[in-house]
Amino acid sequence: MRTHALHKAFGATRVLRGLDLEVARGESLVVIGGSGSGKSVLLKCILGLEIPDAGEVWLDGQPTGGRPRPAFLERFGMLFQGAALFDSLSVWQNVAFRLLRDRRPPAQARARAIEKLARVGLAPEVADLFPAQLSGGMAKRVGLARAIATDPAVIFFDEPTTGLDPIMAGVINGLIRDIVAETGATALTITHDMASVRAIADRVAMLHAGTIRWTGRAAGLDDAEDPMVQQFIHGRPE
Ligand code: ATP
Ligand code: MG
Repeated sequence: MRTHALHKAFGATRVLRGLDLEVARGESLVVIGGSGSGKSVLLKCILGLEIPDAGEVWLDGQPTGGRPRPAFLERFGMLFQGAALFDSLSVWQNVAFRLLRDRRPPAQARARAIEKLARVGLAPEVADLFPAQLSGGMAKRVGLARAIATDPAVIFFDEPTTGLDPIMAGVINGLIRDIVAETGATALTITHDMASVRAIADRVAMLHAGTIRWTGRAAGLDDAEDPMVQQFIHGRPE
């Protein structure tokens, strides 16, 4: 996955200003940056939910040509901020959503959903609950199970720990780390949460003023000399 010279402005607000980013196959990259730095806009441009003003996005070796086709996007997994489950569907129907829509036999889709629920630590009984019956942590787990339901080669995580207490955040970070490692998926995560960075990242990129200001191995983060990175690690006033 890579972007080249990506530009995106909203009126006079130039959010992305020639942003170059590359995630190697099988790598887990975490993008950090202050509030309003453009993390969500970057993710939307990559996913084709916003059309960049200029520049290119390549996903899985192919240029997306501006707005990716839905069928193309379907090859990727996505954990949305707030899980974004369909309220009218049961847990297993949420997890197996794409499989059902692709007319897989329901028994097969349900079995796959239960397998993925088990992978994120949820018992088979949860399969028949509805989103309104789930705690925030369970909903995140279900969202994660849905993201991996089709065994995608690339997975996007949008602020995966927002709204969770530190213990549940630790559980979700650990699940993401282990799942990304065992599936060999390429992962792009955007987050504010240093705990996520430490758990998930092979490499970290800091977004600032519309470009990648700093990037380096997660293991070397504490030794980064960039003052803005240090500020981010140690908590910043906003
Ligand atoms: P946060 O950490 O708070 O989620 P962020 O890094 O995700 O912040 P973005 O949501 O990407 O920030 O927003 C970057 C800038 O782009 C902000 O100044 C925001 O107001 C602006 N922006 C984003 N989307 C739009 C839009 N659809 N129309 C106008 N301005 C927008
Ligand atoms: Mg955001």
